[in-house]
Amino acid sequence: MAKRFLPLTCLLAALAALPAHAAMQAGVATLDITPQDPIWLGGFAARTRPSEGIRQRIFAKALSLRDEKGVTAVLITADLLGFTGELSSSVATRVDAKYHIPRRLLIFNASHTHSAPVIGSQLAPAYPLTDADRAVINRYAAWLDAQLVDLVGRSLASLQPAQLTFGQTLAGLAVNRRRVGNPEYPDVIDPDLPVLIVRDLTGKPRAILFGYACHNTTLDDQLISGDWAGFAQSAVESKYPGAVALFVQNCGADANPLPRHTEALAKMHGEVVAAAVAEVVNGKPRKVDGDIQAAFKETDLPLEPAPGRAEWTRRTTIDSEMNRRHARLMLQLLDRDGHLPASHIWQAQVLKIGTGFTLLALGGEVVADYALRFKRRYGFQSLWVAGYSNEVFAYIPSKRIWEEGGYEGGGAMIPYGLPNRFQSNVEDLVAGTVEELMSSVGNRPLN
Ligand SMILES: [Zn+2]
Repeated sequence: MAKRFLPLTCLLAALAALPAHAAMQAGVATLDITPQDPIWLGGFAARTRPSEGIRQRIFAKALSLRDEKGVTAVLITADLLGFTGELSSSVATRVDAKYHIPRRLLIFNASHTHSAPVIGSQLAPAYPLTDADRAVINRYAAWLDAQLVDLVGRSLASLQPAQLTFGQTLAGLAVNRRRVGNPEYPDVIDPDLPVLIVRDLTGKPRAILFGYACHNTTLDDQLISGDWAGFAQSAVESKYPGAVALFVQNCGADANPLPRHTEALAKMHGEVVAAAVAEVVNGKPRKVDGDIQAAFKETDLPLEPAPGRAEWTRRTTIDSEMNRRHARLMLQLLDRDGHLPASHIWQAQVLKIGTGFTLLALGGEVVADYALRFKRRYGFQSLWVAGYSNEVFAYIPSKRIWEEGGYEGGGAMIPYGLPNRFQSNVEDLVAGTVEELMSSVGNRPLN
């Protein structure tokens, strides 16, 4: 008779060995988004033709987190240059309808690899596309749109009890790229490398979410890849078999991985980042537990007044092909709408778990000044500041960089297809929105 009770005894013993508190649940899913056909790769205006092969497969990944009360947040990461507003809002609308995850609880972040497909009309003036090229790009974006909703569904279907921990270290890959041409500029970077670790109840890592602030531009040839962040994710997955590694691009708009341009360097950069991730995973990351809170806000960022039609007509004959494409686009918009946009909506979001973890997810290509400003204001320990979230439509310069000028200060509005740079109050507006978001989840400034 006693033997019949043994399995129950074993089960009770096993239950007793589990952590006393395992209220959180997590789910994770991956999607191979490597395009089948040659397609234009995003990011470098110097490219003259579509892709010519695959160096490394690229992925979108979804991490779902559910608290004890059933509040569920989903983070989608992807080896892409950036999500367009059309793509992220289309996916968000259907995820809300199908899975009842409201917009504030769904975050998109792109790694900003420059070796992945162009999405929609993002950076349209940068590329000399034919109609056939555009058809390939539109087909890919439509496929991705449908697949991402399914990806969220699969991550939700895999929700299981989980233990979350969070820690940060530093990595020395990023270089302030504005100093390449202007060595007198300040050497501002955000070297922090935050890591959120999701373990099952036996302690085995299921998902490792890590971030870093640096352009994914080690590679600039015709082969598809996730660049150094792709190599970093595969290196982390090799170190922790069975775990999915997800990469979040932080405020790396003014940072490049230097030196660069070879596959060997891209792999080395990936290895450096993966080694830093392992330092956190194998160290003493702090436990993350408690209620999930989130907020999402759209802020109108005004642009400086645009020139008139005569000036755009003049610019259709100037000597840069990209400037001519930009001028033709402005004339098309004038013909269509009668005016040019005077502002652009900027999306910002905050996700907080308990008191030990806050992720600020900011739209656009955000410069490092912002990450450092917000971490100084709210504390470095439990705050993660990401850029490249939800919609990548422009660089978001700080006041300092706006005053210095250059590509990140306003020049990049040409490839992004906007009529002019932001007005001088851009940093004040961004900081005001962040203040509201942080306050809405109960995060107060230090002192
Ligand atoms: Zn960029």
